[in-house]
Amino acid sequence: MKIVIISGKGGTGKTSIGACYADMSDDQTVKVDCDVDASNLHLMFENNNKTHYPFIGAKVAHINKDLCIGCQNCVEVCRFKALIKADKPIVNELKCEGCGACRYVCMASAIKLEKEVTGQVIMSQTERGHLSYAEMYAGAEGSGKLVTEVRKQAESLLYKDQLLDGSPGVGCSVIASITDTDVAVVVTEPTFSGLEDMKRVLDLVKHFNVKPYVIVNKFDINVKNTDLIEAVCNEKDIEVIGRIPFDGLVKKAINEGVPVSLYKDSIAGKAIKESYDLLQERIRI
Ligand code: SF4
Ligand code: SF4
Repeated sequence: MKIVIISGKGGTGKTSIGACYADMSDDQTVKVDCDVDASNLHLMFENNNKTHYPFIGAKVAHINKDLCIGCQNCVEVCRFKALIKADKPIVNELKCEGCGACRYVCMASAIKLEKEVTGQVIMSQTERGHLSYAEMYAGAEGSGKLVTEVRKQAESLLYKDQLLDGSPGVGCSVIASITDTDVAVVVTEPTFSGLEDMKRVLDLVKHFNVKPYVIVNKFDINVKNTDLIEAVCNEKDIEVIGRIPFDGLVKKAINEGVPVSLYKDSIAGKAIKESYDLLQERIRI
């Protein structure tokens, strides 16, 4: 069973809930951090026996200064402003999108597009089982391709159960997070934008034929909107498995790098645990 936790956008508390779920699941469940732009599950658990795999991201332009005749054609054609004007232009690798336009206009054949290592996929062992996650190099961006690499490493372990902390939003990274999972837990918040984001991500989940459940985080900051979200879910025949109350201990847990469910007096931790138990009941039916 592969369970992915997602949200229509960042900042809904998805990762806090994901960290609690990861802590509650057994060590036979592989944890997969697909939130590659902001991976932090590895910060919540002690990580040992790390194995690093280089990740090759987009291609980047490289100029052979011996061949370059300084005509500046490449500088003029680059619409990403990734080439700095000079006798022999300089590539700003952080801006280069690897489009190849500069190579096309270079009459001296001085430009090559070369593969760049933009991050690493890391497999580690935690007290809650294996964890697969990514670390991006400064200036690099996460992508669906990187999420797929993180998932491939998790798959290589051949365990049947996985818990995935998905990427936020509805872009290619979240599509790569959802694909080939069985259950999606959509975390939302009781605002109008939260409602609209939730609807969008539920459409995506439906498209990929994944069974959805919903959690409303900080439900008590606007109970009326929470009721509205529940009504929308009811219409779509989607069960709301958790109403998580606002709890100041969540911030403390984030600062201390631990799942909030570890605090015995946390009302949010208790509600997250109840939602986890309910989810376990549902997926066993
Ligand atoms: S187009 Fe080619 S030859 Fe002209 S400045 Fe750029 S790299 Fe040099
Ligand atoms: S590959 Fe594209 S983005 Fe990169 S330097 Fe050349 S023209 Fe600019």
